This record gives sequence, C-alpha cells and structure tokens, in this order.
Amino acid sequence: MKLLITGGAGFIGSAVIRHIIKNKQDHVLNMDKLTYAGNLESLNSIDTNARYQFIQADICDADHLKQIFAQYQPDVVMHLAAESHVDRSISGPAAFIETNIVGTYQLLEVARQYWAGLDQERQQSFRFHHISTDEVYGDLEGTTDLFTEQTPYSPSSPYSASKASSDHLVRAWHRTYGLPVLITNCSNNYGPYHFPEKLIPLIILNALEGKPLPVYGKGNQIRDWLYVEDHARALYSVVTQGQIGETYNIGGHNEKQNIEVVHAICELLEELVLNKPQGVAQYKDLIHFVQDRPGHDVRYAIDASKIQQDLNWTPEETFESGLRKTVQWYLDNSAWVQHVKSGEYQNWISQQYKAQ
Ligand code: NAD
Repeated sequence: MKLLITGGAGFIGSAVIRHIIKNKQDHVLNMDKLTYAGNLESLNSIDTNARYQFIQADICDADHLKQIFAQYQPDVVMHLAAESHVDRSISGPAAFIETNIVGTYQLLEVARQYWAGLDQERQQSFRFHHISTDEVYGDLEGTTDLFTEQTPYSPSSPYSASKASSDHLVRAWHRTYGLPVLITNCSNNYGPYHFPEKLIPLIILNALEGKPLPVYGKGNQIRDWLYVEDHARALYSVVTQGQIGETYNIGGHNEKQNIEVVHAICELLEELVLNKPQGVAQYKDLIHFVQDRPGHDVRYAIDASKIQQDLNWTPEETFESGLRKTVQWYLDNSAWVQHVKSGEYQNWISQQYKAQ
C-alpha cells in the first residue's frame, strides 16, 4: 500500500511513520510544510529506508498537491498536518483557520478529483483518513460523562473550532461526493519527540534546567492521556480495517488532573536523575501556578469502546509505564531537545505564562 501522510514531521505523524516503516511493508510519502513544529530529526531512525520518502509541501497549495497526487498515486491519505497548539491559536488564530480549515478543504478537493479518476477497483480501496481531536466535543466539566462518537460538537478554542470545521468538511465530502473517508478523534497524546511547548515535555525540560514549572490556574484540568505509539497503532488499524464513513474515538482510559501529571513527572525525575540543578531541593518546589488560559476546558474523557470492539484495539501502555518511558527518552535524547529548543522556540516561550 502507498500511503500519503500529511504532517509526518510532527509529533504524532512521525510516530505513525516510524510505526509503519518498522512494522509493516507499506510505502510512505511524508508531505509536510516544516513549520516550527515539523522536525525531520524525529524520523532519523527510518529515513534511509527505501519505502520512505519526504516532500516539503503546504496543504494550502492546491497546484502542488495535484502534482504530488499525480506523481505518487497514493492508495491512502492520512491527514495529520495541522496547527496544533491551543495557546498559539489564542494569540494568533489566522494560521489555524488557514491550515486546519482551508488546507483541509484544498486537500479534500485534490483527493476527490484524484479519486474520481481512479479505476473502479482502486476507487473502492482508496481511503481518506482525517485525524482529529476530542477537543471538538467541548467541556465535560461537572459531569462524569464520556465523549462518544455521538456527542454533539461544542468547541471552545480557535484550535478546536478549526478542527471541528475540518471534521465537518470531511463528513460533507463523504456524504455529498462519496469520498471514502474515516475520522478519528483522539485524546491528549504524550511520548517521545513531543515539542516542548506542550505540558509534559515542557515540565520535564524545565525541571531539568531548574526553571519554574508553569501550571495553569489551580492545575485541576482533567485530560485523558494516551501514549503516542498506542495512537499510531490505532490509526493504522482504522485506516486498514475501519468502516468507510465512520468515526472512531481513541483514548487511553487515563483521566488525570494536570497537577497530578506534574507531580508524577517530578517524582520520576527524583528517581531517575541523580544531580539536581543548583538550588533545587525537590522538583516539586519549582511548581509555579500561572494565570489560566482563557476559555480553558476543564475536563475531557473518551469512551473508546467502539474502536476496542470493532477493531480490537487497546492501549498497551498504562499512564505510569508510558510516562516512565517518556521521561527516560528525554533524558537520553538531549541532542534532539537542544536542536528543537534553539531558534523560534526561545522567542515564543519567553512570552508565555504570566504569574497569577
Ligand atoms: P504537530 O504540531 O506536532 O505537527 C503538525 C505537523 O503539521 C508539523 O510537522 C507541521 O510542520 C505540519 N504542518 C503544519 N501546517 C502545515 C501545512 N499547511 N501543510 C503541511 N504541513 C503542515 O501536531 P501533532 O501533535 O502531531 O498532531 C497531529 C494531528 O493530530 C493534528 O491534526 C492534531 O489536531 C491531531 N491531534 C493531536 C493530539 C495531540 O495530543 N497532540 C490529539 C488528538 C489529535
């Protein structure tokens, strides 16, 4: 099978590509614009494999997309390219509208025209898999409910609203034009190669440098954490075995408050790191509560029973085992971290997190 994967230089896309190249026989074309979040070093372990290719391209550029589809002739598209960071969507929503909505529209149109030109057999096996987030469902604050595939959309941030829009476009391209689509909505991912603007890598790396550990509000927001390699396996199951037109929720059964996550990282560091930065008695002493994000959703939680029953997928990692692997990975991969943290990241991070 020839897979065209958008956003394959990002956190989840690179995990999907590593999974496929290492464990399957498929061919992959990674199509990525290489924004600040794209990093080809995350693919160093597989990038000399003859089944892997990379092309730098913007999903908003329809002419380039047409050329790429015509030359590569994909059997499957897995669409992960997106602007993905909620804080950035609040300070600068334009890029989110452009990439997540307009870019998804351009990709759908090019895919639809390409698909319409395929012979009947290839038309039937073609799939367009759109990768999305549980944030489209909104906030579960004050309830014990879980998000199901039937939960109505109620996005809160420019990021989640742009992802909700893209999900609607994908469903419309299926219903109106018959494009064979699949949609997945997943909870918060964590794991190796995660850009350090996101909570878990930010806390690990700040702690190692003896810097404050910023926690929004009181740290009582609840997220349902999933190890990124479990997500990558789930996505491959959906794209190879999922039913056309269906949505699958993906989650890890790991509801944790942010403050619990931060404490767990501090405790792992106490165990794994011998020399603390100067002046640090306990990593927890570095915790620093900061002004909450506007419109911050309090609780997300996923009912993943459909993908478990229909596709026999379950997460392999518990939160404890996945977090231990993640912390150890950051301790062992300082070269990747140093490259990622140079340049644009420094400017951005210096403007974040006002004290309460
Ligand atoms: P990421 O920010 O790490 O990676 C995004 C990738 O997309 C980057 O490599 C970037 O260069 C590329 N990209 C951005 N704009 C592009 C454009 N216009 N054209 C081509 N490439 C472009 O994101 P991620 O965390 O890997 O998330 C991947 C997908 O999964 C996103 O669609 C996101 O909404 C979704 N998702 C993420 C999570 C999570 O916890 N990270 C959870 C559920 C769903």
